Amino acid sequence: MKIGFIGLGNMGAPMARNLAAAGHDVTGYDTAAPMPDGVHAAISAAGAAKGAEVVITMLPNGTILRTVAAEVIPAMAKGAVLCDCSTVDVESARAVADEAAKAGVHSLDAPVSGGVGGASAGTLTFMAGGSEQAFATVKPLFDVMGQKAVHCGASGAGQAAKICNNMILGVTMIATCEAFALADKLGLDRQKMFDVVSTSSGYSWTMNAYCPAPGVGPKSPADNGYKPGFAAELMLKDLRLSQQAAEAADADTPMGQLATLLYEAFVESEGGRGKDFSAMLPRFEKRHRG
Ligand code: NAD
Repeated sequence: MKIGFIGLGNMGAPMARNLAAAGHDVTGYDTAAPMPDGVHAAISAAGAAKGAEVVITMLPNGTILRTVAAEVIPAMAKGAVLCDCSTVDVESARAVADEAAKAGVHSLDAPVSGGVGGASAGTLTFMAGGSEQAFATVKPLFDVMGQKAVHCGASGAGQAAKICNNMILGVTMIATCEAFALADKLGLDRQKMFDVVSTSSGYSWTMNAYCPAPGVGPKSPADNGYKPGFAAELMLKDLRLSQQAAEAADADTPMGQLATLLYEAFVESEGGRGKDFSAMLPRFEKRHRG
């Protein structure tokens, strides 16, 4: 397939590389990052999009996505698919889908979970919003870049699934970390805490698969000095998007709201920037009640 790929950063580069390695004809564009192996360079976003059957974007946020989409959509052939894999606000995703539809271009919002490791290994999960037809066109590419792709519904549904999932993740990580810090103060050994909780009703992905306590459970960023993994500032980004969406939809999300405030303090004034989001545990360890 002829593919345009715009945004070749930490996530986009390995995704584009995997598509090229699978035999697709990939033309890339990025304002700063170098071209990955096997990807032809275009001199503009429109240049990467011209003649492509599918244009994939992997950009930092909704504002940049809207700017890039405004340049790319007029360059795309009618019937081609614009597939945005960035994590952006639901409103931007829907606005881009509307612009695409006006130009006769199909679109998908298809954010991912799995991080840089998943992008390199080709094991991402895609959650997509848009038409059945657009999903069917891009599905073979999702199968190269990932191991699972779920068609979640109409435009915006992919972003909705992503921020709901990550709101649960942020809240659960905080709950797991505060419980470990409480266990410490109660004199409960961390390994024993893990042995009980990971097989009891308090189990979760954050406890069982990504344990925030060093030396306990499977290998995780906690065992590597809390080097990301999934950086605290990216968790903050997703939590903020969840609260922005909750505000717009008039949804009551008190736990998501508190998780956002805690990650905000952690990233902006407590040295959490650049650390894995599980470094909430050493944060709680140092704190006292009140
Ligand atoms: P990144 O900052 O490494 O990459 C973004 C790239 O976009 C950069 O190379 C930048 O130069 C490029 N860019 C910016 N403006 C541009 C423009 N106008 N035209 C062309 N290129 C432009 O970020 P990332 O970690 O690759 O994340 C990309 C997206 O994926 C984000 O929305 C992020 O939230 C999401 N995401 C990241 C992870 C992760 O673990 N890193 C996991 C899941 C989802």
